[in-house]
Amino acid sequence: MALRFYNTLSQQVEEFTPASENTVRMYTCGPTVYDFAHIGNFRTFTFVDLLRKILRANGFQLNHVMNITDVDDKIIRNAVAQHRTLEEYTKIYTDAFLEDCTALRLERPERLAPATEHIHDMAQAIERLGDSHHTYASDGSVYFKIASFPGYGKLSHNDFSGNMAGARVDVDEYEKADARDFALWKTPKEGEPFWDTTIGPGRPGWHIECSVMAIKYLGETLDIHAGGIDLVFPHHENEIAQSESLTGKPFSRFWLHAEFLMVEGQKMSKSLGNYYTLRDLVAKGYEPEAIRYLLSSVPYRKNLNFTLDGLKAARIAIERLRNFKLRLETDHYPEGVNEGLVARTAQASQSFMDSLNDDLNTAEALAAVFEFVRDANSAMDAGDFHAGNASAALEFLARFDSIFDVLKPTAKAGELSDSDIDGRIADRTAAKKARNFALADQIRDELLAQGIILEDTKSGVRWKRK
Ligand code: AMP
Ligand code: ZN
Repeated sequence: MALRFYNTLSQQVEEFTPASENTVRMYTCGPTVYDFAHIGNFRTFTFVDLLRKILRANGFQLNHVMNITDVDDKIIRNAVAQHRTLEEYTKIYTDAFLEDCTALRLERPERLAPATEHIHDMAQAIERLGDSHHTYASDGSVYFKIASFPGYGKLSHNDFSGNMAGARVDVDEYEKADARDFALWKTPKEGEPFWDTTIGPGRPGWHIECSVMAIKYLGETLDIHAGGIDLVFPHHENEIAQSESLTGKPFSRFWLHAEFLMVEGQKMSKSLGNYYTLRDLVAKGYEPEAIRYLLSSVPYRKNLNFTLDGLKAARIAIERLRNFKLRLETDHYPEGVNEGLVARTAQASQSFMDSLNDDLNTAEALAAVFEFVRDANSAMDAGDFHAGNASAALEFLARFDSIFDVLKPTAKAGELSDSDIDGRIADRTAAKKARNFALADQIRDELLAQGIILEDTKSGVRWKRK
């Protein structure tokens, strides 16, 4: 099945290919680095990671930009309260965000773009918007005049026509469905950081950063723009108004939005005590790959109800797949090939990809995997699984893991990392080559003492954690 996505702009499922050549030009809204990211944020970022992998599985290359919002009202408020500079404050949470992404196995976009490194580009864009009469100034701040953009409302499918004159808003977040002129540039307040630019001193509003950095790095029309559902209005609506007023071209062909994550059926909030960062869950002993699995398992256009029971179930599901893989690698099967199983494996693999291509239906994709595992396990128990069936089954698992990426266990605190282990294995191989078998055995024993089992195979040394 050809790849298709639900496009918020057209409100339809549409077949997707990039506009030019084979490269997908994609922009996704990144974190506001004022605190540790919570698992709701990571629902959206995990969706973006799956999207990257599925685009690649369809043979496309990626040029993906994600912003880091490192200046906004909340950041300034917190940094000033802690007597830190903006850079000191945002570095803490940018680093933490990137560490969390690594733990969740989220690929880095081709470019991460911090807003504060693009202030002068934004000032220039605001100047150009002024030249084409889309802005007005008031008390040193500059506002976008939404009445100057006839398409306003086309993404959120709101009819704002009776409601667009005059009222304006300074803050970055404002009431839903309340169309207001929004700040492009904010005049400095006492004690706040600001930049000196061609349009005067101040700092940018939130929305302009994404328009400017997306166009700078990806061109005037993107293939895909994505983020969480809360960004449709006002953020993405405002991005369209700014970008299309600047270029006269459609800003993005496809708009994809992930629905919200809830916790135990409720909106996540600190006051309800159901607010989790990734770090909170890892500290409770949950593995990042179980969290990744749970976040991936619900199709992105459905609300995800995150529960600790669901997390335990995710852990069991991963364990089942790991056991199946181990059984494929280590059990002995009768010679030959079971042709029925060859066809069953091909069908499962096809259904897996078809489900993902169908607007990322991860739930159906996982069902295809588990139904196959059940059938293959039964065939093994009945003696119907043959030696010649193992490699296709392993390939299917590898295909699954190239997208879901949960099979490899995360090293626990104090454990050797994967690269440490690979290094020790290389030392052992070198020792064997030098016929220093005592040293080779010693390395094997040392690794075993740390829970790492080595297995010498024809294709080299394999290892696993006990
Ligand atoms: P922020 O750091 O607040 O700018 O948000 C980063 C991303 O997380 C945005 O794409 C938001 O739409 C998304 N997001 C925020 N809360 C949730 C949630 N509860 N569930 C899913 N996505 C969310
Ligand atoms: Zn954005």
